Amino acid sequence: MTSAPHPSATPAPASPASASLPHERARPLGKGSVYPAKDLCSQCGLCDSRWVAYVKDSCAFLNQRFEAMETGAHGRSRDLDNEDELYFGVQQRMLTARLRQPIAGAQWTGIVSRLGVRALETGLVDAVLCVGQSDDDRFTPVPRLARTPEEVLSARVNKPTLSPNLEVLEQLPGSGIRRLLAIGVGCQIQALRAVQSTLPLDALYVLGLPCVDNVSRQGLQTFLDSTVSSPETVVHYEFMQDFRIHFRHSDGREETVPFFGLDTPKLKDVFAPSCLSCFDYTNAGADLVVGYMGATFGRQWLTVRNPKGQQLLDLVEDELDVAPVTSRGQRQPAVQQGIEAYDKAVKLPLWLADLIGFFVQRFGPQGLEYGRFSIDSHFTRNALWLRRNHPEKVAAHIPAFAQRIISRYRLPTR
Ligand SMILES: Cc1cc2nc3c(=O)[nH]c(=O)nc-3n(C[C@H](O)[C@H](O)[C@H](O)COP(=O)(O)OP(=O)(O)OC[C@H]3O[C@@H](n4cnc5c(N)ncnc54)[C@H](O)[C@@H]3O)c2cc1C
Ligand code: SF4
Ligand code: SF4
Repeated sequence: MTSAPHPSATPAPASPASASLPHERARPLGKGSVYPAKDLCSQCGLCDSRWVAYVKDSCAFLNQRFEAMETGAHGRSRDLDNEDELYFGVQQRMLTARLRQPIAGAQWTGIVSRLGVRALETGLVDAVLCVGQSDDDRFTPVPRLARTPEEVLSARVNKPTLSPNLEVLEQLPGSGIRRLLAIGVGCQIQALRAVQSTLPLDALYVLGLPCVDNVSRQGLQTFLDSTVSSPETVVHYEFMQDFRIHFRHSDGREETVPFFGLDTPKLKDVFAPSCLSCFDYTNAGADLVVGYMGATFGRQWLTVRNPKGQQLLDLVEDELDVAPVTSRGQRQPAVQQGIEAYDKAVKLPLWLADLIGFFVQRFGPQGLEYGRFSIDSHFTRNALWLRRNHPEKVAAHIPAFAQRIISRYRLPTR
């Protein structure tokens, strides 16, 4: 990487020994300043490190580079004529799995945390980039370079808010870390891949999470306040494949709310602008992706993109109950109806939301078809949002695979 430093990156005083590379002459931006992607910034953390020097080319919101990223990471870009790759990205294998001994307190069964632990125990890596929580708030993310299995385990479970993962790059120089496993969501991984060749590392493994509809900490509060009975006791939640949001409270109580009963008028603005303009739902640049939405209820869904991804999976595969991916149902009518309902910001009464949820769960999309349902719904919504809020960005910002998916639906003309 040889591009010029971003003008807003403060140059550090030049020293004769380290005058060659842009990041050696740059300093992180001050927290709270206006970041180069402005309102579209997802707070990925790159600008909180000296690698801000490359922000113009590397930020997911300033420069979309899916093809180059996929080619660099996997040796080729996705085959747009292959439906599985069109939707889920470059792959050599897709499967569903559960840890036979789930990790208590993990988001699902804890495959991600177990992989991080095994990567350290086997000496594959010196550290794992993961996200802990602040001492006083369960939902405030604190990225860290974990050096021990205990530190990886204590970072289990989602912090469902924007997280500045890449700020920890600042700790790499002089740390002795030469081999790193980075866990992260799409926008973080796009920026990481773009600066990878300039990092002081001998090996980088990337374990990706699918991600959509993320929020600021304040946005999360609005969502919880308008959706759940006692927002202050929520310790875990997930949008699940049964079309309900499952909340777990600190006393162990489970509460579920149907997707179709959400207060859409109130929640329309709750998602971060970055996430309303994001098309990297399935984390195109990761070696291995671990999510849930392409699996049936209760199982996790894994996409191995390249040999490094398989190397990661090898660390835990004998601890998994593995099954092939499956697919059932027809998503298109539901997606088309959803586009119109969302646009009108319809809020359904709870009894009707429950009834629709019941039928959709019994007869609606499942497995990979549920994954495609979610991708179609979010890509069409985000294309509309971008067209209305950043029309100047539409042509360059929507990648070819997303354009092909969006073109299958009728979108409102204005
Ligand atoms: C914001 C967000 C949205 C997601 N949306 C979807 C989705 O729509 N569809 C889908 O299939 N999967 C989604 N996932 C992934 C899914 O919820 C699980 O995280 C994944 O399946 C792993 O489960 P696990 O039990 O193996 O994870 P665990 O073992 O519990 O580990 C969770 C890991 O997540 C990391 N993490 C926590 N918060 C963040 C954060 N804010 N940013 C980056 N990394 C973080 C931690 O470092 C930890 O290593 C999302 C994840 C996040 C963080
Ligand atoms: S998204 Fe990341 S790289 Fe882009 S401006 Fe924000 S912090 Fe910087
Ligand atoms: S939805 Fe996209 S932009 Fe938002 S946090 Fe997730 S990967 Fe980043």
